[in-house]
Amino acid sequence: MKRIDQAYINGQFITTHGTEIFELVNPTNNQKIGTLILGDAKDTQLAIAAAKKAFKTFSATSVTERIAILERLKNAVNKRRQELIDVMVLEYGGTKQFCTMSVENAISAFDDMIATLKDFKFQRKVGNNTLVEMTPVGVVGIITPWNSSNSFICSKLAAAIAAGCTVVVKPSEMSGMQTALLAECFHEANLPEGLCNIVNGLGNVVGTEIVTHPDIAKISFTGSTLTGKRIAQMAADTVKRVTLELGGKSPNILLEDTNFEVAIPQAIFGAYMNSGQACIAPTRLLVPKAKLEIVNQLAKRAVESVVVGNPADEKTNVGPMVSIKQYERVQHYINLGLEEGATLLAGGSGKPEGLEDGNFVKATIFTNVRNDMRIAQEEIFGPVLSIIPFENEDEAVSIANDTTYGLAAYITSADENRALQVASRIDAGRICINGFKHDPLAPFGGFKQSGIGREFGTFGLEAYLEPKTILV
Ligand code: NAD
Repeated sequence: MKRIDQAYINGQFITTHGTEIFELVNPTNNQKIGTLILGDAKDTQLAIAAAKKAFKTFSATSVTERIAILERLKNAVNKRRQELIDVMVLEYGGTKQFCTMSVENAISAFDDMIATLKDFKFQRKVGNNTLVEMTPVGVVGIITPWNSSNSFICSKLAAAIAAGCTVVVKPSEMSGMQTALLAECFHEANLPEGLCNIVNGLGNVVGTEIVTHPDIAKISFTGSTLTGKRIAQMAADTVKRVTLELGGKSPNILLEDTNFEVAIPQAIFGAYMNSGQACIAPTRLLVPKAKLEIVNQLAKRAVESVVVGNPADEKTNVGPMVSIKQYERVQHYINLGLEEGATLLAGGSGKPEGLEDGNFVKATIFTNVRNDMRIAQEEIFGPVLSIIPFENEDEAVSIANDTTYGLAAYITSADENRALQVASRIDAGRICINGFKHDPLAPFGGFKQSGIGREFGTFGLEAYLEPKTILV
């Protein structure tokens, strides 16, 4: 049984001043696996003071020094790669497949930022020989959710370091064990004191202290839209810069010339990525009305090969929900779908047979869903897919855009040019054509209520910099 009672401040592990306890539970069987002693406002203030002090020297470091630090971080995280995967499966219940990818992303985030940094111009000339200096924004507060926590921390930290910023990280309390291990990696990377400080704690204690503190210049947040709005409101008092990576309800449009035999299994497995607990999951499957019958048959067949079960098993596609609360939330939406009159094609409420001890949900598909139903509008964050029929391409575009979200979208067509034309009409920050793709150097972020700002590559780095114009 693990007891985690330390914060990582100024290059040292210190016993937290907090006294509140958060029980860490394995979502696969709901057995207790550890105890997290939550940090408090005092820990947070110490962390912010350390980051502020470190900023004075770190902001003046050269690109070469920053690259060396990013290299050390990459090597330190890579060295404990397997432990990081195992603890993520244990604490979070993510499937081995997903957790492996997530940890790989955490490691490659450092390399991606090194590549970005090598070509980046911190000094530019504009207009009539005017100088623009890109200067680090200051101390950054990094606040992350429980899904893929360590990969978010690493990508935000990499961009902050590349820019010359120092940071205070507040991970989700549900990722206490994963972050404790990550903090050990950071310590092993021999970082300058105070560059990266980590305080575990609750959102309304440690999170609020970071967001309202005058010495924090910017918040980089990934989490729900509800919390993102709250953070933006609180950050306004001190005019903090904010990058918000929020929720999604992404459409997956299959145009009528699609090869449905291939696309439907991909759509099902895509919707269930990270057990459905993924912000970019294609949770609304938009198909031509004329093809609905065949789509339903193919979807029913595909879902039979989805393996729901022990996340540590390599073959598992869908593991448990992270917590009982999340399990109940998903059950609520499944029941709501039935009440709203959607047709249940697979799965449904309750736990799959033989998996009653954990927070498992049946791989669920609703068909004949109308886009105005709540199951099509609200983020469920579980393995629940809605199939929505459309009459023609115009209607497909209008349904796709009829949402408060705008994080990702997916389009499939035998005609790539046609798919590109449809893409230009979709309001989303990332659109994948003919398959699920990822480019770590391309900007990532949301339109509408899916967020503010972009991460990754040059756009991500610029989000940690202030342009300073010098007119001579
Ligand atoms: P959440 O919003 O509940 O919590 C996220 C973080 O914010 C946690 O660390 C939490 O403690 C903290 N927090 C809560 N209240 C706070 C407050 N008042 N002040 C400061 N911090 C506070 O989100 P979650 O349930 O942990 O994660 C799931 C959500 O994250 C989903 O909505 C998902 O779509 C979103 N998400 C978005 C992306 C993206 O890149 N756009 C990626 C992953 C997850």
